[in-house]
Amino acid sequence: MNILLAVINFVFRVLQTLGLFRADLSSRVTDRMPLDSDVKEGELVIVENNGLQKWACLKCPGGCGLKIALSLNFERRPRWRVCRDWIGRPSIEPSIHQKNACQCHFWIRRGQIQWCPDGHRRLHRPAMPTTGPIPR
Ligand SMILES: [Zn+2]
Repeated sequence: MNILLAVINFVFRVLQTLGLFRADLSSRVTDRMPLDSDVKEGELVIVENNGLQKWACLKCPGGCGLKIALSLNFERRPRWRVCRDWIGRPSIEPSIHQKNACQCHFWIRRGQIQWCPDGHRRLHRPAMPTTGPIPR
């Protein structure tokens, strides 16, 4: 099974290199929550344990570079659903909306980042002030 996945991954990368399948994100499955540094740009890491999908992790495509961890657990809210096509391109439902300074809002469909009108990629957005009075 792992050999099959490796072959599919290889074929995908070749096709991608040839420009036949444009994708912003590929995907891989692991059984442990990845460290922030283990999540590379351009990949979605699906954490799966005993046949249950737990988390989907990716680097925020909005420019802030934070790791986004989406719960796939049925018993939690909010939760997301992820599926992959035959070459590993992920789709996620519903959309992903970052509530931090980044404010990006996007869909992932067949490995493509699709920006919502209110959530474009924002680079070099000023950080939230960290000093000053705490609002009550
Ligand atoms: Zn961001």
